[in-house]
Amino acid sequence: MKFFRLDGVKIKSPAKIEAMKRAGRLSADALEAVGSLVAPGISTAELDACAERVIVQGGGRPAFKGYGGFPATICASVNETVVHGIPSRDVILQEGDVVSIDTGAIVDGWVGDNAATFAVGAIATQTRVLLDACEAALAAGIAKALPGNRMGDIGHAVQSVIEREGFGVVRNYAGHGIGRDMHEPPVVPNFGQPHTGMLLERGMVIAIEPMATMGTHEVRVTDDGWSIVTCDKRPAAHFERTVAITDDGPLVLTPWNLVKNY
Ligand code: MG
Repeated sequence: MKFFRLDGVKIKSPAKIEAMKRAGRLSADALEAVGSLVAPGISTAELDACAERVIVQGGGRPAFKGYGGFPATICASVNETVVHGIPSRDVILQEGDVVSIDTGAIVDGWVGDNAATFAVGAIATQTRVLLDACEAALAAGIAKALPGNRMGDIGHAVQSVIEREGFGVVRNYAGHGIGRDMHEPPVVPNFGQPHTGMLLERGMVIAIEPMATMGTHEVRVTDDGWSIVTCDKRPAAHFERTVAITDDGPLVLTPWNLVKNY
């Protein structure tokens, strides 16, 4: 019998989670392909074209293009831009920059969503620490994505890793449930208290996506209506994976395997 939860969370059967793997894999493929191109002198529009090529050739559709009016396949967020940066021919990556790339693909009606921050050539030591902390925070959050845990366990794990290094955790944006829609309930915050919040159950599929800032965690939207930037203009990092909660533990549906370029 089919039933609907009052909180809107859509529990996925094992067959549906299996079906989501293709969208996840293609999202990860696009992220890996874009990551391999990141270098001084390339424009974020070129990175966008690469991702679109990978997704379309892989039998999918870009999930972000047209979503809420977003104009591109990827979000490309440079330095103080945390998320939702719009790719542009005029944004040329420079040595010492960091760029957060977010890619999403739709296959068979299912959505995959993932992100990572890449170094452009050599970057400052402290920026490297920021990227490492954000990626480690994602791993810590994923480790808590278990039936019987609570949402606050994920948020607390993410927050602890980032704040331990003295960095900020963005509060105004969060991870999310994902399935046939890119953004489904529940909200997956990057901060929280252990043993609090929604009970995590088998069949939930969520995108966990820590956003870490070098300085203040305060952010604002720029005049383009999309880009989220740090208020102090210091750099930020963003890592994301789509994860299914199963009895066998967290199942990463976007298995990117990034060769660290820093
Ligand atoms: Mg997301």
